[in-house]
Amino acid sequence: MKPTEPSFRESVDIMFNRAVALMDLSPGLEEKIRVCNATYTVRFGVRLRGKIETFTGYRSVHSEHMEPVKGGIRFATSVSQNEVEALAALMTYKCALVETPFGGSKGGLCIDPRDWEEHEMEQITRRFAYELAKRDLINPSQNVPAPDMGTGEREMAWIADQYRRMNTTDINANACVTGKPANAGGIQGRVEATGRGVQYALREFFRHPRDVAAANLSGTLEGKRVVVQGLGNVGYHAAKFLQEEDGAKVTGIIERDGALHDEAGLDVEAVKAWIGKHGGVAGFPDATHHADGATVLEAECDILIPAALEGVIHLGNAERIRAPLIIEAANGPVTAGADEVLRARGTVIIPDMYANAGGVTVSYFEWVKNLSHIRFGRMQRRQEEARHLLIVSELERLSRDTGTGWELSPDFKDRYLRGADELELVRSGLDDTMRIAYQSMSQVWHERADVQDLRTAAYLVAIDRVAKSYKAKGL
Ligand code: GLU
Repeated sequence: MKPTEPSFRESVDIMFNRAVALMDLSPGLEEKIRVCNATYTVRFGVRLRGKIETFTGYRSVHSEHMEPVKGGIRFATSVSQNEVEALAALMTYKCALVETPFGGSKGGLCIDPRDWEEHEMEQITRRFAYELAKRDLINPSQNVPAPDMGTGEREMAWIADQYRRMNTTDINANACVTGKPANAGGIQGRVEATGRGVQYALREFFRHPRDVAAANLSGTLEGKRVVVQGLGNVGYHAAKFLQEEDGAKVTGIIERDGALHDEAGLDVEAVKAWIGKHGGVAGFPDATHHADGATVLEAECDILIPAALEGVIHLGNAERIRAPLIIEAANGPVTAGADEVLRARGTVIIPDMYANAGGVTVSYFEWVKNLSHIRFGRMQRRQEEARHLLIVSELERLSRDTGTGWELSPDFKDRYLRGADELELVRSGLDDTMRIAYQSMSQVWHERADVQDLRTAAYLVAIDRVAKSYKAKGL
């Protein structure tokens, strides 16, 4: 990265400032929204392998215009106050854009989870959770963490259990964290939610011919060449769904140890299995391996999906990125400087605060489920089936009685008669959320002559909602 590149936190602020310059906010409100309300730093010791290991963690609260505040907890060596604050700010805007009733927060622990055994990770996670919970930085009504890089269902289950032990009479204890395993208060479809959201975002994008044309593309997702950077939870699910369900061709996969490229399309499942077994993409038999991942990041393709760390597209490589469409599955993968360069070149960027909002959207459903203490669909499913059966039986009777000989195909009957289960409801809610949020962004992009990109449009929609909520509170 060139030395002139701003930090991640500054990058988010630059993008925010570009948007507020086009708004008419009351004096001081702009600053109030931009700043991070508080960041708590915790240093704690855990006795491991015969000695005390000290860890540093953070939980940053960016905006409490709505509570609880929401955002993941990241376990990575890159974690710093700057990073956590940038991510917390993005959570505020993300939640506002997709209309999940939360403020923004983010946490992180500076650790490489691969350095520790499972039981050690449990000790460390529980201790971190204890430190946060006793300060209400984990709490169903105030601050609700979720998975992020380096964390998943396992960590969320430990955190929930830790909170429960400390709050034995809290009937809503399960709602203190989202992304829990299905058998421990979780919801169907949360694990793949962010990747699924990326798929729904792209589907919605391709429903807008004008937007597609702005990216110099045409048609649908069918046959589009996709390059994915990072085959973690988000990148893997996005690539898999786009390949299996939309007919896109995954021509490139970039990982820590280089990249794979195949114009005919890579088998995402096979690559994932290879990484699981060998720890990287090197040696994968059915594709060309490039030791330098940049070769594939800069390769010709239709859609580039950065799905790992922030800042991977920066001033040093932005000029060489050839994809006409970038969808930011990761948070902050394009720096403010690179954003400028790409915008000038006409690259369309579907911004992070929208593109990866599938995770927090399904987290919202999980939180609601936990608070209502009932699985989605439990009351309606069979009743819905009974009513559908009524229609089908009546149609069949009419066909018989009038002698028309019409027959409903067995496939139609099966599908129509089946009442929606939790997973179907989650998908429907996520799809609806992603469609509506895209439309609100796209509308601003096209209606305002001073808005030239989707990111600025997204910020305008989000900031306007946050501002309105502050105003309603009398601030
Ligand atoms: N860590 C995810 C994000 O950055 C999910 C947050 C959540 O579900 O609260 O959006």
